[in-house]
Amino acid sequence: MTPPAKTFRDAACVVLVRGKGADREVYWVKRSDAVPFQPGFMAFPGGKVDAADAAFVVPSVSDDFERAARVCAMREALEETGVLVGLAGQASAATIAEARGKLLEGETTLAEAAYTHGWSLAPESLVFAGRWQTPVFAPVRFDTLFFLAELPEGQSPSIIPGELASGEWVKPLQALDRYRHGQLTFAAPILWTLIALAEGDDGLAERIAQGPARAATPVRRVELQWGVILHAMPTKPLPPAQHTNAFLIGESELALVDPGSGDPEHLRDLFALTDHLAAEGRHVKLVIVTHHHPDHTGGVAACRERFGAKVVGHASLASHLPIDLAVKDGDRLPLAPGHNDWSLTVLETPGHTRDSISLWLPKRRALFCGDLLPGGPGSVVIDPPDGDMRAYLASLERCAKFEPETLFPAHGSPSGAAVRRIRNLIAHRLEREAKVVLALSSEDARTLGELVPVVYDDTKPEMWSWAERSLLAHLEKLAAEGLAERAGSGWRLANA
Ligand SMILES: [Zn+2]
Repeated sequence: MTPPAKTFRDAACVVLVRGKGADREVYWVKRSDAVPFQPGFMAFPGGKVDAADAAFVVPSVSDDFERAARVCAMREALEETGVLVGLAGQASAATIAEARGKLLEGETTLAEAAYTHGWSLAPESLVFAGRWQTPVFAPVRFDTLFFLAELPEGQSPSIIPGELASGEWVKPLQALDRYRHGQLTFAAPILWTLIALAEGDDGLAERIAQGPARAATPVRRVELQWGVILHAMPTKPLPPAQHTNAFLIGESELALVDPGSGDPEHLRDLFALTDHLAAEGRHVKLVIVTHHHPDHTGGVAACRERFGAKVVGHASLASHLPIDLAVKDGDRLPLAPGHNDWSLTVLETPGHTRDSISLWLPKRRALFCGDLLPGGPGSVVIDPPDGDMRAYLASLERCAKFEPETLFPAHGSPSGAAVRRIRNLIAHRLEREAKVVLALSSEDARTLGELVPVVYDDTKPEMWSWAERSLLAHLEKLAAEGLAERAGSGWRLANA
């Protein structure tokens, strides 16, 4: 529950290509399941600008960010793929491999390696191919310059497993086809770069560079998997989130999940997107609500009216807002098939609230989990009596059994490596519970106010009022299991 920093981090990315025309291929990589940002996603080589990148002297580039990003792109390509781009003149395979090893060990910088091996580096020769900024919903945001580079003759990329799981050459059309069939997850910069590559060689760098503008028309479109569009709406959720991710799922018939804002301006943006989709023959048929919290329901009435769509939710959601279809565990919500089967299965996943549901898209192994899991660091608030820690952990366990691959949470960033994330969250909760037990005594009762600073010593004090609610949920779980008991205004270990 630590609020993340929202400032941009400078970064760079290399679109490494080889061949011409129909033979054109691009080198892309799969991010490891263990990385915190976009685990399991496809990406291009790249990463954050570091101090040595920023210190590299490139007389012909005056802009500090651009200069550092050009050097960063070269360094990241070398570290991640073993390919040295932006080289004027020659470098032997042996010196390139040696420099890569030392860079990865942190034993050298690109400038030092160039000096050692007598390389003539020309960061200014990389071809600018666009500037992308991570959208608002992500807990970590990057300001990234893209550069296009032809594979230098005699070099060949390879991946050392670590942050990256694998890499491959792919033809853009084949990559888009795999995406369309739901086999791959990646962010908008990858999608729009692939589209520009698939459109041919003429003016390639300029067309790739237009990607951010194309992706933002009419509003920023985030389609991490084909048929799954994320539209972040500004809302007032529990901190640290500032948005709710509304999802549009499907091809011709769409389910709209959690339109959280009723603000006319925010709805105008959403409707600009749905109008754009309508022109592609895609229409909202269902408005699905994962639970009753206002940051998930704010736009429901307006969307129901706008689309003539049925509002779908758990039966007990009806005590908070009018619904047209009450669903229960295992119900199927059919949507017209396209390249994929879009039928959603309802899972009752209480714990955050009693009326929480998640949506399971079996063909994609994708879970739309509402507030069951956070889309970033920290955890979800469990606020009794609506929140229930035992039910919450049982819901997490149950979702893990479905072996989902991708999580689409209502706040923060979607994620691959879904089972690993769920397991980590369960472990995190049980660690917290162990701290609760340690903080309790069998004699003296302790109040929530006394326990919070001990149990949440790793959490900022401004979050303690929320932490206290989850603490109470842990105590109620321990009481239900016979391990703790109320005593006066506090809690103590149960005397067995
Ligand atoms: Zn909620």
